[in-house]
Formats: sequence, structure tokens, C-alpha cells
Amino acid sequence: MFVSENLGVNENGHLTIGGIDTVDLAQEYGTPLYVMDEQVIRSNLRRFHESMQKYYDGKGEVHYASKAFSCLEMCRIVASEGDGLDAVSIGELYTAVKAGFPMEKVGFHGNNKTDEELEYAIEVGVGHIIVDNLPELRRLEKIAAEKGVKPHIMFRIKPGIDAHTHDFVKTGQIDSKFGFALETGEAFEAVKEAVSCENVKLVGLHCHIGSQIFDIDPFVEAAKVMLGLIAKIKDNLGYEIAGLNLGGGFGIKYLNEHDPVPFEKYLEKVSEAVKSECARLNITQPMIYIEPGRSIAAPAGITLYKVGARKEIPNIRTYISVDGGMADSPRYILYGSEYEAIVANKANEERTEKVTIAGKCCESGDLIGENMPLQHAESGDIIAVCATGAYNYSMSSNYNRLQKPAVVFVNNGQSRIAVKRETLDDIIRNDI
Ligand SMILES: *Cc1c(COP(=O)(O)O)cnc(C)c1O
Repeated sequence: MFVSENLGVNENGHLTIGGIDTVDLAQEYGTPLYVMDEQVIRSNLRRFHESMQKYYDGKGEVHYASKAFSCLEMCRIVASEGDGLDAVSIGELYTAVKAGFPMEKVGFHGNNKTDEELEYAIEVGVGHIIVDNLPELRRLEKIAAEKGVKPHIMFRIKPGIDAHTHDFVKTGQIDSKFGFALETGEAFEAVKEAVSCENVKLVGLHCHIGSQIFDIDPFVEAAKVMLGLIAKIKDNLGYEIAGLNLGGGFGIKYLNEHDPVPFEKYLEKVSEAVKSECARLNITQPMIYIEPGRSIAAPAGITLYKVGARKEIPNIRTYISVDGGMADSPRYILYGSEYEAIVANKANEERTEKVTIAGKCCESGDLIGENMPLQHAESGDIIAVCATGAYNYSMSSNYNRLQKPAVVFVNNGQSRIAVKRETLDDIIRNDI
């Protein structure tokens, strides 16, 4: 009935998540509120994990892309499932460290890492650093020499694959700020330099072609292209690349009409391509890593808001204004992303209207969505927006000096705070 399978309706006609009444959650913790269902996170991690084990005969690892949603509790959950993590900043690394995450299972990304970040990554012992460009390689070589260590690195490669997704989240084509281009020979030249470095060890290649991708083909193509590069490196330099990271980007269901391929299917198809290409190219199958973010966190989350004003503009549209907006839900203003919404206290009623749900920020573009089918919503109702577990909390801001909402985890009928709501003093804590 709803986009996310963990949502239901109870005897009061209220929306439930993980068996808990969302209207009660709104009352207990206040709104806006991010709610994450721990069981969904765990089950998604396990689905990826088990498929990687199965399709790569134990030579596959899952690294959750923490930029999708990160906090101490999320890092602890990923660690407890035995999976790795991908971090893209010193802040994401720090969160993992403070959560007690096993740092050897962390990959450190970024197209413009600072020296401070590289030094920190080395100090905390990340498993590998995914190097984006030659100046970074040279800086890292120098830092490693000074510290007398030899960090493991991978190279971020642009495989030249069009991922058929929104321009802002495409990353595999030549016109991208991320990584070394393959077609131009830039990637191969960089590998040549890396294998002669004394203070870093090149252990893998990495690609990530984009996000919210619904086709299998671009993933298969990217894997083939990357294996071709691994074969070229072996044939020309006599150097064996031990690991191949194929990134994340698996599409999820935001609306009922979305029909993503189950991610087991992606992994199965890609693994078939990997195996046959390795045989054809006569290379040993590398360790395969994937980095799903959205597909793990998004379906686990909802955001709860309280309705304030209802504004009917005859022959134009009806605005339903809620107590949050682009500060906690920035994907609409960024990419025009669509979501399903439900009036949580009228969840068993028909959706009889199509409305624009507006935020409370001082921007006309501050919307949760337009043309959204919804139950008749009035002041005081609670609205749930579905599948908001990824790239909402993690992209939230204090625009208009709004306090960031709390994050609550639910688990089989129990709820607990994972991130406190910001206080007014938090808003001015760094002001002097
Ligand atoms: C964003 C990103 C991911 C995760 O992408 P999702 O679409 O959330 O699965 C994985 N790897 C890298 C390098 C990324 O930049």
C-alpha cells in the first residue's frame, strides 16, 4: 500500500513504522522528526552482504556509503553487521572513529582531500585511501614518507559510462570532477606513477558511476571496462591489482510507480560479467567491493511534520505548509526529487487531493513536493514523507536558523533517540 514495506496502519487508522504509531512518535519527540527503522537498515545490509558472499564466493565486501546517513548509532549498526564503511570527509571519519568502527574496514574518498584529512586518515588507520588525482597522490606519498608508513590506496577512475540518471548525481563520464579519465590514458599513466611510489601501495581501482540508477547495464559495462584496465596494467606493467570497488548507486523506490531491480539481481548480473571477463582476460578475480548508500538508508526512514497553514488558491493549487522544509529535506530544491506523503493520523483514508507541500523557509522553491496525492490535510495533522532515510538528515542545514530535527531509531516496537534535536543554544554555539 505504501512505498516502504515497513509502513502500516494500526487500529486507530494511524500510520506505523516498525510497528510504532507515528502520531505517538510525533507527540513524544516533537516535529519535524526523522525516524529510522533499524530492522530495515539491518536487513538491507544483510541482503547486500549475503549476495556479495554468494556471487563472489566470499571475495566480496560491502562498504556502506556513510554520506547517505551518518551518525554514531548508524556506524555502530553497520559495524555490528560486520560491514565496512565509505567516508568522504574528516567529519565522517571522525564519526566512525568515535563510534568505535573498525577503521581497517573504511575507505576514504574525496576529490579534494586536505593534508589534514590525509594525515588523520593515516593516523586512524583507514583500510585504504581512494586517491582522486596526481597532486593528491604526490601529497600522500610525502605525508606517508614523513610518517614512515605505507598506506594502501585505490584510484578513482572515470570509466566513461553514462548512468542514465540526474546530471547532478552522474559521476562516471569524462566531464566529471571525480577521478582519472580512462579513455584519455590519464588513468593508466597515473597507475604507472603509483606503482613506482615507495610510500604508498596501490591495491585497487574504484569507480562509482552515479546514484539512483535503475538499469543493470551501466553497472555491467563499468565492471567490464574496469577489468579491461586491470588486464592492461597486468600485461604492460606486470602489476596485479588486488581489489576492484564498483561503487554504489542502486536505485530505490520513492514512488509506487518506481520499479527498481532488486539489488540481488544487479549483483548477480555484475558478478557474471566479472567472472566471464576475468576468464577472458586471463586475470585473477580481484576482491570486489561495493558501496551502497541510498539503497540501505533511504527505505528505512520517514520524516514527520506537523501541518500549519492550509492555503487554497482557487484554480491554482492548494498549499499545505509544514513545520520543516528545505533545511531538513533539501532534495526537492536540489533535484526536484519526488516523494510519497501520507497524513499519518488519516492513513486509512483515501487520498482525495493533489497538493503542494511547502516548507517554512523563506524561498518559494522550499517545497517537499508538488502534485502530491494526499488525504485531506488540515492544521494540526501529522504528515509522513516516505523513504527519506538517505540524503535528508545528512544534507540538512540550519537555513533560516532552524534547529535540525532529532533522529529517532525504531526497532520492533521500541523507539530511542539517536541524535538529539538542536536547541536554540546550538544555533548560536559558535557565534562570538
Ligand atoms: C555517493 C557515493 C556512493 C553511494 O551512492 P548511493 O547512490 O547512495 O548508493 C558510493 N560511492 C561513492 C564514491 C559515492 O560518491
